[in-house]
Amino acid sequence: MPRVVVLRMGHRPRRDKRVTTHIGLVARALGADGMILADIKDRGIEESIRRVTQLWGGPFFVRTGEPWKEVIKKWRSTGGLVIHLTMYGLPLEDLLWKVRDRDLLIVVGAEKMPGELFEAADLNLAVGHQPHSEVAALAVFLDRLFGGAELKKEFKNKKLRIIPSPKGKKVEKIG
Ligand code: SAM
Repeated sequence: MPRVVVLRMGHRPRRDKRVTTHIGLVARALGADGMILADIKDRGIEESIRRVTQLWGGPFFVRTGEPWKEVIKKWRSTGGLVIHLTMYGLPLEDLLWKVRDRDLLIVVGAEKMPGELFEAADLNLAVGHQPHSEVAALAVFLDRLFGGAELKKEFKNKKLRIIPSPKGKKVEKIG
């Protein structure tokens, strides 16, 4: 199986905890293998995503504080593609064929992204050409990449599982 890892850039520890945590949760829930937080060490983010993974299953890794240029260089050295999601890029729907079955590092950002990143990425892809959100862009990208199959993913080593029900909440404890 190709590996899919999300690289989150531009995280501001005081302001972005919630959005960055949501990037990690979306990455995990929609089929990615892990998230790397560029440049900033943030143990709070690591802990909250690991807690979710311990309860609801994995595998899913989270690492923080890794310099973005090094992450990209290392990823490329193993033959993986670097995809930067940006409203300025080429339409995602036209280029999906190029990214399927490849190891993907998906870069999502914040307000201002370094110009060098646009050069460093193999592909700058847009999820529509309107400004919206890193969380939404990632979710749509992963859903298009996996064609919906990610919603049926079986998570391993979980302690909790939802029993789908038309009304109310049913949760089963495992083990
Ligand atoms: N000017 C930014 C851009 O380049 O897309 C929008 C900033 S938005 C607050 C933060 C992040 O959301 C961007 O770095 C990008 O990863 C993602 N994003 C927002 N709109 C997007 C779109 N239409 N297509 C792809 N990614 C988008």
